[in-house]
Amino acid sequence: MYSPKYLDLLKQGELAKRVEKLKSKLESCTICPHKCHVNRQEKEVGFCKSSNKINISSYGPHFGEERCLVGESGSGTIFFTNCVLKCVYCQNYQISQEGYGVNISERRLASIMLKLQKKGCLNINLVSPTQYIPQIVSAIYIGARKGLNLPIVYNTGGYESLETLKLLDNIIDIYMPDFKYSNNELGEKYSGVVDYYKTATKALTEMHRQVGSLQLENNIAYQGLLIRHLVLPNRINDTNKILSFIFQNLSKDTAINIMSQYRPAYKSYQLSKLNRGVTYDEYLEVVKQAKEIGLSNVI
Ligand code: SF4
Repeated sequence: MYSPKYLDLLKQGELAKRVEKLKSKLESCTICPHKCHVNRQEKEVGFCKSSNKINISSYGPHFGEERCLVGESGSGTIFFTNCVLKCVYCQNYQISQEGYGVNISERRLASIMLKLQKKGCLNINLVSPTQYIPQIVSAIYIGARKGLNLPIVYNTGGYESLETLKLLDNIIDIYMPDFKYSNNELGEKYSGVVDYYKTATKALTEMHRQVGSLQLENNIAYQGLLIRHLVLPNRINDTNKILSFIFQNLSKDTAINIMSQYRPAYKSYQLSKLNRGVTYDEYLEVVKQAKEIGLSNVI
């Protein structure tokens, strides 16, 4: 049976050191690529509007994720408030952009993780965790000392700092990043960051280095990388470039979920290229491209 590597770090005394290193970044915040340098320990806030307090909107067993994360008992999902991206089409914009949520302590977060484990969830699925990762790792430390032993899923938009990711090595079991855009211009236009492609490609490469391709036992994922690509309408992206990057720089058996569920939400109703769903042809074209390129693990 799989044992998460953070339990080894706990035994070696390394997990406590990682908490310290990550928390020290909050004093002049460089947790994510925005590098705002605000003192979050003094309640200053930067681009993500997050202070030193964890804020969550909800938690519970979730059955809407990929089948390999859900099984019969669900993925133990925790939705964190705020985000390091500002996607104009965000379906969860009340949480990610409007701050809908409540402050909780690290101890409370640890007890939520243990509660999800007790309910039989297969993993702890951190949705939009980037801005709170020092506090989350601290909660994992508290939880691990009390018996937490589920794989940790890092469910993110793909805009991550390389330095911070390196501190998560052997703490995160499953990385589940989006790969949203094929160039920086689209990231600036639709997610409010000037360097999405450059940053996400480096981040995904580091994630793959840490955890490798997705590993399953009895059809349930316990370790590895699972990339999500949401197909956008009007062939906005050069998807060939996105898929070729994965094939050439990660591996041909990288698990990739090509998602068809785009619907206009939030500000995208006002944008001519984003104000409708994706057609069947647009979606199938991307799936076909993935197969032609040679990607062998398309979900
Ligand atoms: S986590 Fe927030 S405050 Fe820190 S660098 Fe990123 S956007 Fe800025």
